[in-house]
Order: sequence, then C-alpha cells, then structure tokens
Amino acid sequence: MSSPKIFLFDFDGVIVDGMHEYWHTSLLACERYLNSPNISVDQKLYKRVPNSFKEIRPWVKYGWEMILIVHEIIKTENPLRNHNKDYFINNYYGNCQRILNDNSWIAEDLQKILDKSRKYQIDKDFKSWVNLHNPFFEVINFMKSLNKREIKTGVITTKGEIFAEKLLNELNIFPEFIFGYESGTKIEIAEKLTQTYEILGFIEDRKKTLINIKQNSETSHIPCFLADWGYLKESDRYNFNNEIKLLKLSNLEELVAI
Ligand SMILES: [Mg+2]
Repeated sequence: MSSPKIFLFDFDGVIVDGMHEYWHTSLLACERYLNSPNISVDQKLYKRVPNSFKEIRPWVKYGWEMILIVHEIIKTENPLRNHNKDYFINNYYGNCQRILNDNSWIAEDLQKILDKSRKYQIDKDFKSWVNLHNPFFEVINFMKSLNKREIKTGVITTKGEIFAEKLLNELNIFPEFIFGYESGTKIEIAEKLTQTYEILGFIEDRKKTLINIKQNSETSHIPCFLADWGYLKESDRYNFNNEIKLLKLSNLEELVAI
C-alpha cells in the first residue's frame, strides 16, 4: 500500500498573520510577568505595533525572543529604535544571548510567560484574542481544497500546539496533526513524518529552516516553498538554491495540480 499523501504548513506568517498578537502578547507578558525594573508599560503602547518590532520579526525563530525584543523597544534607557536597529539585527543571536545574560533570564522561562500571557487573554476574552490575528484566506482555502482531494494537511510550528489548534479550529481547519515547539525541531519532525507519509510539499516563511530540510539526506526530497507573503528578510528573496521555490499566494492553487 502506498503512503498517505500530506502537505505541510508552518503556522505564523504562512497560515495566519499574527503581528498584532505577537506585539500585544509579548507586551502583556512584559507588563504582567517579567518584573523588569528597566521598563514601564504605558497602555498606549498596546494600540500600535512599532515598525522596529515589525522589522525585527523576520529574525525571530522562537516566541520567547519576541519578549526580549519588546523589552528592548520599551526600555526607559537606551531603547531599541531605528538608529540602533541594524546593530541589533546584524548580530541577532549574539544580542539575544547577551540580553538574556545581562538580565539573568532563561529562554525557557520567557517562553513560559509568553504562553501564560496567551492563556490569560484566551481565558479572559477568547474572541478578542482571535481577532488579533489575520488569516491568509488563500491558504485556508488551499488547505480545504487539499482535503477535498484526499490529501492530508499537517502543521509544524514553533508556537505552542494548543494556541495554533485553537486558531485553526476557529477557521474550520482540522489538520491531521499540529506539532509545536514541544515536539522538537522542525527537521526532527519532518524526518519522522517521512517514514509514514509521502510529503508533497512544505510551505514555510523561514528560509533557514527550508535550507536545513534540503541539506538533510532524510528530508532533502521534500519539495520546499518559501512563503512570499510571510515574515521575510529582504535578502531571503534572492539567491535561491537547493531547489527551494519562492511561492506567491496567487500561485497556491497551482500546487494542487501536482
Ligand atoms: Mg513562520
């Protein structure tokens, strides 16, 4: 018997634009749970997502990094602004580690307070939390059309599974599985999935993740698509190799013809 066919999707920046939610949730985590002496949270900050946050978002791999970025933006002394943004981005991972050390924070703890901030909003006012997200309806429709063709869909995200599931169910999407950060790295998950499924494609907006998939002998056969509508760095749009394709929302339906 042949293996069941499946299409894989990243969540943030691919199925849903959650920029407003990332800002809101990270700011709330800073205000309620971080106990940092270096910030004061003005309620006006919730109204608008600063450009500096939007511009740094393409570098984010895990949710906890967003708390750290928001903290840097709202610091009372020497905050992260346009003039020092490039310094921050040019050594993104080094700077994240330095800020963790300077504040004696542990990444896992920041991740916990991010999840706690999401849970707080969900318990308090689920609809308002859902409304902070903008789904990409072309992707939602594509997922539905795959299911009609008896092709399964799966979601691999660095978000907590429960949060992705709540949003997908609101959109009437019930994938075969959702794997969050709790389940390991995307490459580990993809490797395991190749043993059970014929993977027809993986749509993701983090180019490095796709490059890793292509460079791993167990997963290199998976067709990889970089979501042009997601959180891309400008440089991500150039220098394609390893058979990764830049995909536009308007070209999604062509993939069904595979
Ligand atoms: Mg993403």
